[in-house]
Amino acid sequence: IIEVTNLKKSFGSLEVLKNVSFEVKQSEVVAVIGPSGSGKSTMLRSLVHLEEVNGGSIKIGSDYVVKEGRYSGGHQIKEITARMGMVFQHFNLFPHLTVQGNLELAPKLVKGQHTADIRSKSTALLEKVGLTDKMDVYPQHLSGGQKQRVAIARALMMDPEILLFDEPTSALDPELTGEVLEVMKRLAEERMTMVIVTHEMGFAKEVADRVVFMADGQFIESGTPKELFGNPRHERTKAFLNRIL
Ligand code: ATP
Ligand code: MG
Repeated sequence: IIEVTNLKKSFGSLEVLKNVSFEVKQSEVVAVIGPSGSGKSTMLRSLVHLEEVNGGSIKIGSDYVVKEGRYSGGHQIKEITARMGMVFQHFNLFPHLTVQGNLELAPKLVKGQHTADIRSKSTALLEKVGLTDKMDVYPQHLSGGQKQRVAIARALMMDPEILLFDEPTSALDPELTGEVLEVMKRLAEERMTMVIVTHEMGFAKEVADRVVFMADGQFIESGTPKELFGNPRHERTKAFLNRIL
């Protein structure tokens, strides 16, 4: 469902993505790991057009966001990227809206839907992430784990085909990561297609169908968690895993 080919991205003279190619299949859960600065966030941000790449292709289903360095029209890009939901490390909730307001904003703005039509959905999604009692609360009164669960529910409001996560738990106190990972695990069980940049190796091992190791702007290798953690083929992967495990 995601096909990335020879993606290139530079910031000035710094090459951040060097010919990155990979595929994600429908219902696959892919964990992306790698050292700081290796281009993981840039790669995710490129998928949803928060970064403009300098070359290569991104295909979502049968539609190109960018094909051999040439971007599709703005309207088409919006339609394609709207099929993906993104969850960030720092939640990015709207502080002036209640929890339920956060969930309902995008459907209203982007799809022109009315409160009456989406109230039951936002209520159900808040129940799904265990926040029924926080519906009318403003984000400043939530814990980090609760904020992140709101961010996930908010992404789900748009019925994404794909969810992208950029280190969803690394801004959280350790005791709060579990509740967020639990929600993600449930989504994986429901066969949601997910790409998760993470430092949580235990979670990657348990939940991911495939783990991709990225370093220096390149995809070095990928495999099942068992293959990649148990029997890494590349020296870079071995060195990285030795350092962190
Ligand atoms: P981390 O694990 O620390 O989040 P990462 O793998 O997500 O790292 P990126 O955030 O994609 O790495 O950054 C890759 C490189 O690109 C880094 O050297 C970073 O400094 C640089 N970079 C990222 N965004 C910009 C920007 N807007 N302008 C200039 N350089 C940038
Ligand atoms: Mg990052």
